[in-house]
Amino acid sequence: MPDGLLAEAVQRAAAATATHCPYCALQCGMMLSQDRAGAWTVSARDFPTNKGGLCRKGWTAAALLDHPDRLATPLLRDTKDGPLRPAGWDEALDRVADGLLRIRAEHGPSALGVFGGGGLTNEKAYLLGKFARLALGTGNIDYNGRFCMASAAAAGLRAFGIDRGLPFPLADIPGADAILIAGSNPAETMPPIMQYFEAQRARGGRLIVSDPRRTATAKLADLHLALTPGTDAALANGLLHVAVRDRLIDPDFIEARTTGWESVRRVVASYWPDRAERVTGVPAQDIERAAHLLGEAATAMILSGRGPEQQSQGTANATAFINLALALGKAGRPHCGWGCLTGQGNGQGGREHGQKNDQLPGYRKLDNPDHRAAVAAVWDVDPDILPRPGMPAIEMLRSLGQPGGVRGLLVAASNLVVSVPDAAGLPDRLRGLDLLVVLDQFLTETSSLADVVLPVPQWAEESGTMTNLEGRVVRRLAARPPPPEVWTDTRILSALAARLGCAAAFPAEPDAVFTEFRRATAGGVADYAGMSPERLAEADGLFWPCPDDAHPGTPRLFQTRFGHPDGRARFTAVERLSSAEEPDADYPLYLTTGRILTHYQSGAQTRRVAELQEAEPDAFVEIHPDTARGLGLRAGAMARIATRRGSVVLAVRPTPGIRRDTLFVPFHWGGASSANLLTIDVVDPISRMPELKVCAARIELA
Ligand code: SF4
Repeated sequence: MPDGLLAEAVQRAAAATATHCPYCALQCGMMLSQDRAGAWTVSARDFPTNKGGLCRKGWTAAALLDHPDRLATPLLRDTKDGPLRPAGWDEALDRVADGLLRIRAEHGPSALGVFGGGGLTNEKAYLLGKFARLALGTGNIDYNGRFCMASAAAAGLRAFGIDRGLPFPLADIPGADAILIAGSNPAETMPPIMQYFEAQRARGGRLIVSDPRRTATAKLADLHLALTPGTDAALANGLLHVAVRDRLIDPDFIEARTTGWESVRRVVASYWPDRAERVTGVPAQDIERAAHLLGEAATAMILSGRGPEQQSQGTANATAFINLALALGKAGRPHCGWGCLTGQGNGQGGREHGQKNDQLPGYRKLDNPDHRAAVAAVWDVDPDILPRPGMPAIEMLRSLGQPGGVRGLLVAASNLVVSVPDAAGLPDRLRGLDLLVVLDQFLTETSSLADVVLPVPQWAEESGTMTNLEGRVVRRLAARPPPPEVWTDTRILSALAARLGCAAAFPAEPDAVFTEFRRATAGGVADYAGMSPERLAEADGLFWPCPDDAHPGTPRLFQTRFGHPDGRARFTAVERLSSAEEPDADYPLYLTTGRILTHYQSGAQTRRVAELQEAEPDAFVEIHPDTARGLGLRAGAMARIATRRGSVVLAVRPTPGIRRDTLFVPFHWGGASSANLLTIDVVDPISRMPELKVCAARIELA
C-alpha cells in the first residue's frame, strides 16, 4: 500500500470509520472503531437502508478482522498431491503467470477461465472483467451472481429495457397500499429492511407473501400463499386471470405505456382460479383475494426473491409477476413497481461492469459493436481484440478439465464447492485442473483445493464502492491497513497483467481503478461517471445513472418512460412449465433450499464467527410435523435426505409452517452437510441460472 493511503488508513483507525456491512445487498451503514485494547467493534449508524438497525451478522462482522484463520501470506503447492506452503509474492505470482501462459500457449486462451463474485466491489469486478478479456484474452468469465440474480435481471431487462433490482428507493415501500413479496424472506436475510414493511403495514397497507414455507416474513403478512415449489408462474398467471375477469386491470396504462398485452391476456385466460389452485396448491379464494388486494389498491408493488428466480423457468416466473404489475398499472408510478430483492452485497454492481460472460462496464453488451468500441477506447485497445461472450457459470464449471474446456481457473470471492448445485463432482474437477488460483481471505472448501492461494484484504482494509439493492452506490472506507503480506485484488490483477505481458494499463490502487471505471461506464445504461469519491462521501450514496458531476443521480427509474427505445414496457406471455424434476414414487417430496438468519451465503465468513456458529452450528432439515410423524422422524433425530445426485444426514426440525410435501435445507454449510450435494444443475434457458429451489427428494431415518 502506498505511504499516503497507509497513513490515511492508520489515521482513520484512531477514530470510528463510517462504513457499510460486508455482507448483504442492504449495505447497512455502520461505524467501525477500535478500543484502547485494540479490539474492533461495530455499531449501527443511521443510513437510509437500515435507519440505525443491523442484523446479527452485521453486529458481529468485526470478529473476522483479526481471526486466527486469516491468510497472512500467499500459499502454493509444489506438487498436485503436496501440501500448501507459505510463499513470497514474487514466487506465487510467477507461478500463476507461468501456469496461465503455459496453458494459453498449449490450449489457447479459451482454456482459461475466471470466476468472480457478487461480493466484490465495483472496482474489483470491473478490473476482473478487464483482466479476463485483455490480460488472459478469454471470454470465459462469469460469477456467482449467476446463481443469485440472473433470472430477475433477464426478466427485468426484457420487460423494462433496464435491469436495476429495485427501480425505486426503499423509502417508497411504506407508501404502497399493497405489496406482494414473491419467494423472499427478508425478515431473516436482511432484517433491518422490515422497518419499511412495518411502516407500510402501520399506515394500513396490506402485505401478501408467496412461499412454500410460513417464513418469518410470511408470518407478518395479511395473506400467505403457500404455493407448491416450482409453480410461481401458474400463481402469477392465476392472479392476472382474476384481475382480467374482475376488471382490476388498468387499460389506460396498458395502452399508454406497454406493448404486447394481447398475447398475455390470451395465455392467462386459461389460468382460472380452480386450475391455478390445482397446480399451485393455493386455495382459489386466496388467489382471488390476493388479486383484489393488489388490483384494488391505489398503489402496489411486487417484490421478487430467489424463490421464483432460482428455477429452470426462473425468467418466465419473474416475467409472469412483471406482467401482473404492468397489467394492474402498478409500475412506473410513485409507490408502484416490480423489483427484486437482491441478495449479495454487490449483486447489483457485480452484474453491471464486466464479470458476467456477456457484459462490459456500464451494463454494456459484449456482442454490441458500439459497446465494444466505447469500452475499447477507454482501455486504449482495438475493439477486435475483445473476445466474444464465453461460457456462463454452470457451463464453464461443467467444462473443467474436459476436452476443449477450461484447464486453468482463477477464482475471486466465490466458494464454489459449497455454492454450486450438484456439487459432489466439483472438488475432483477443480483438483484435476492444470492450474487453480483462488483469491481469498481464508482457506475455504474451494481455496483449500487450489494450487496457489493469494490472500486479500477484508472489507475494512481497503476503499471501494458497492451498489446496493436499490441501485444506490455507496463507498466503503478503509478503517485500517491490511496485514503486511496481504494484497488487494486490484494490486494482484495489476501485477499479474504485467507478468502476462499485457500492454493495457492496469491500475493497482482501488481509487485509481474507480477513476478509470467511471470513465468506462460513461454513456452506458449504468452510468457512474458523475460519482466522484467526494460526492459519494458527502451524500447517502448516489443512484445510477449519474452521468456527470452536476447530476443528482436517479433514485426512481421508469416514472415517465421505460428503458426500451420506444419508452414502453414489454409484456411477454409465459406458461407455467414443470420443474426439471417433479416428485415421484422414489423421491416423493420437494426439496427447496435457502438462507437463514444467522449465516450468509456459503458460510465462509459467518461459520467463523463464534456467536453465529454457536447459534446455528450445522445444517438441518425442516419438515412438516405430520410428514415427519408418518415417517417416524422425531425432532432432533438424524435423517438421510436423498436425491438423484446424493444424500446428506441432518437433524430433523419439525416445522408446522412448511408444506407437507416439501423439505427445506439451508445451504450455508459444506462437506457432508452441503445442501448442494442434493440440488440439480439444470439451468433456465435464458438466464442460465440453475434450479436451486426445486428438486425431488426422499427422507428416512438415518
Ligand atoms: Fe449486514 Fe445485510 Fe445484516 Fe444489514 S441486513 S447488517 S447489510 S447482513
